[in-house]
Amino acid sequence: MKSLVVALQKDGKLVSASFEAIEAVKSIGGEVHTVILAADAAPLATELASRGGGKVLAVSSPSARFFADDVYSAVISSLIKKQGIELVIAPATFYGKALVSRLAALHGSGMASDVTALAADGDSVKITRPSFGGSVIAQVVPAKGPFFVSLRPKIYPESKNGAGEVIHESVDPALLAGKVVVKEMKQESAGTTNLAEADVIVSAGRGIKGPENVQLVKDLAQSMGAAFGASRAIVDAGWVPYATQVGQTGRTVNPKLYIAVGISGAIQHLVGMQTARTIVAINKDKDAPIFNIASYGIVGDLFELVPALTKKFKAELGR
Ligand SMILES: Cc1cc2nc3c(=O)[nH]c(=O)nc-3n(C[C@H](O)[C@H](O)[C@H](O)COP(=O)(O)OP(=O)(O)OC[C@H]3O[C@@H](n4cnc5c(N)ncnc54)[C@H](O)[C@@H]3O)c2cc1C
Repeated sequence: MKSLVVALQKDGKLVSASFEAIEAVKSIGGEVHTVILAADAAPLATELASRGGGKVLAVSSPSARFFADDVYSAVISSLIKKQGIELVIAPATFYGKALVSRLAALHGSGMASDVTALAADGDSVKITRPSFGGSVIAQVVPAKGPFFVSLRPKIYPESKNGAGEVIHESVDPALLAGKVVVKEMKQESAGTTNLAEADVIVSAGRGIKGPENVQLVKDLAQSMGAAFGASRAIVDAGWVPYATQVGQTGRTVNPKLYIAVGISGAIQHLVGMQTARTIVAINKDKDAPIFNIASYGIVGDLFELVPALTKKFKAELGR
């Protein structure tokens, strides 16, 4: 099977989930291709090739500096046709998901989003993805190619090495002329880590009482080098931006450690974080449902516990 990994970059640096997608594709065997678009894709392509990216198709253009749905999908679609690709895999980040669905529509083909496993199945591939908030695990076998997959971050380890070669692609300039020109991207708040890529997430819920206490939990996150997340209750209340929301209608995250502060554990929140390897819950109600899935539960007042933990982490980690 001929597979294509869509590697993504931000600020000219490769998104780590790109290497996880390479590892997933390596696990099913077959011919591996990787595509990278950037203002200067050459150094990124070299890195991808040294880490198992197979034939790495590098597209360099000022129009590829920032992600743009129409430009990226037009260019990648042309390469899929040129290389006869049967399976396309991108990280299930905001951009990866947007890209995969657009590509599937452009090719009149099928897709599976937020996939958690790939397995070789004869000449085909068996794709596993959770549905209905994780209560059903669906197995999908593509009926026809090319088939499109977005892969949930933090499921597969990053590919560290393997064979690869760089191929500099020159694409039709018409494909690089998008309808929208992205001139600048600004990080929402400096010093915060992207939720999808984070190994550690500290999330706040309505237990923090008011917007003036958001900083309390952000300080804890910062002291641990963690990303900051939130329940929908405090997003809807306007205390924190939607980008931080974890759950059914927010982000699905899969960190090594998830700390839920003043979050009750409603099912719509749990479906977004229940696959975290270790879950720590801080809640003053010993019967809060979050304790049913927590690896460690701390029953107590967050206004006492959180500053004490922050102080301890600052002292230990020096952040
Ligand atoms: C269609 C739909 C989609 C939804 N999508 C999402 C989603 O994506 N993400 C999401 O999170 N929710 C989602 N929800 C909402 C969800 O049902 C809950 O309402 C929400 O998760 C509750 O947020 P919370 O746990 O912060 O608040 P609450 O349920 O009010 O819980 C607050 C918790 O804080 C504790 N607490 C209070 N004071 C303290 C203190 N001093 N110290 C320690 N603990 C304290 C309380 O004991 C309580 O357990 C969705 C709902 C619907 C209907």
